[in-house]
Amino acid sequence: MRIKKILSFALAVALFCATPVFFTGCGDRTEVLKVYNCGEYIADGSYDSVDVVSAFEEWYEEKTGKPIRVEYSVFDTNETMYTQIANKRADYDLICPSDYTVQKLRTNNLLLPINDENFDEIWAHAFEDEDPTAYGLQEEDEITHKNIMNSALMELVETYDEGWTKGGKIYSVPYMWGTFGLLYDREKIEKAGGSVEDMTTWKTLFEDDYTGMKYMKNSVRDAYASANIYYYSDELSRLSNGFTDYNEEYKKLLSQCMNFPNDETIKSAEETLKSQKKYLYAYESDEGKEDLMNGKSNAALGFVWSCDAGYVIGMEENLNLWYSVPKEGTNVWVDNWCIPKYAGNVTAAQYFISFVNTYNIAYENMAWVGSATPVRQVADDFAYEIENPRSLLEYEYYEAEIAEHGEEYAEEHYDEIIATAHADWAKMVETEDEALADYVYFLDKYLESHDNCTDEEDCDCDWHAYARMYVEAIYPPDSHVERSAIMTDFAEKNTDVVRMFTRVKAA
Ligand SMILES: [Zn+2]
Repeated sequence: MRIKKILSFALAVALFCATPVFFTGCGDRTEVLKVYNCGEYIADGSYDSVDVVSAFEEWYEEKTGKPIRVEYSVFDTNETMYTQIANKRADYDLICPSDYTVQKLRTNNLLLPINDENFDEIWAHAFEDEDPTAYGLQEEDEITHKNIMNSALMELVETYDEGWTKGGKIYSVPYMWGTFGLLYDREKIEKAGGSVEDMTTWKTLFEDDYTGMKYMKNSVRDAYASANIYYYSDELSRLSNGFTDYNEEYKKLLSQCMNFPNDETIKSAEETLKSQKKYLYAYESDEGKEDLMNGKSNAALGFVWSCDAGYVIGMEENLNLWYSVPKEGTNVWVDNWCIPKYAGNVTAAQYFISFVNTYNIAYENMAWVGSATPVRQVADDFAYEIENPRSLLEYEYYEAEIAEHGEEYAEEHYDEIIATAHADWAKMVETEDEALADYVYFLDKYLESHDNCTDEEDCDCDWHAYARMYVEAIYPPDSHVERSAIMTDFAEKNTDVVRMFTRVKAA
């Protein structure tokens, strides 16, 4: 049985009762944790979420008996953050760089190992009250930083932090991950005489179809990578037997398309991107996803990161929006917690890393941010709940019985409780009860197709197809990961790639 795990009652009460604490500006670094994260990238109390930073302050004091104040600041790009660390020697205790920037920070000796002699003890202390079975482990298992992570993801992480799979020091702990692909408005695509099939190939973005209806991302790395995946698509197809067998040879070329720029690949990207321009509606930095959501522009599709697709689809304002990852391949991006060289409070940083990987907090952040936590079971459960909304009612009924009659009683009467939940669910569906909105994403689609919907994993109703697509946007399935590569630092070739992109945009 799988049941929704929500913020534990004990933690909720602790937060509710928290007394505000006022701080003087004293400079004791053991009582301050400086976190430098990307913007809008942690649950902050809005939309009924937990304010994770405040929750950490409470939890840390409970755990260690010492007060802590989090100084939380945000950056816009990896490059801005890198400059702060490398040139200004900022004393942040935690930063959240992307994969290729972790590599660059490591190359330039700007990170401390996370698993120093104290880390295992701190992690164990953080997880001492956690239930191993909630993480998909056996009851007698110890919860470690390695055995709760998604193993397909950690194999990719090996490209910039080999300690995860090969042992030894680790310099990063994944926080969120996803892919890049196409976001499209299905209704607009069909009105234009196109089809969903067109969205399964990068050709749609780079050739003359849908002229004047396409957004391209104003991001040098993503433009370079996607242009070269398109440019080398015949060769990628040959190696993968027509995109049916994503083998090592295919993956090697895919990685070369995105990484290791040379004169030839810079030229191929430049030609591809220049010829693409005449087919575009616009280059965009962030507004494209909103435009697609509002339907205010002529655009019908665009290049997006999965987290942005997950965000706009999850807003439920436009239920014609779909996300797809083209068959030729994608990038898996990973954002990670790292401890920079000039950190002033490594211990608190290690506690924070442990805390954000505990079940409830990882769940809160995944739900709020709209992309995948690396904690395997949390992401699996979250995905399950979206595709099986009735399970949320089951959970509620079960918890209510525990509260009223105790755990033993609830366990004994499990089947009855679940049957009652199912009967009440059927009634809610029958009467189109407004309360359904609390459980079901994309309710409009649900109501249209609910007559045939079985609320089972293999249900083929419209709503389930849409919910599965949404889950794929917020949590990359194996079928996306198997045709992906991680980006690496361009090193001394970076300037050439940036100049190429400047020429493209000026052309
Ligand atoms: Zn269904």
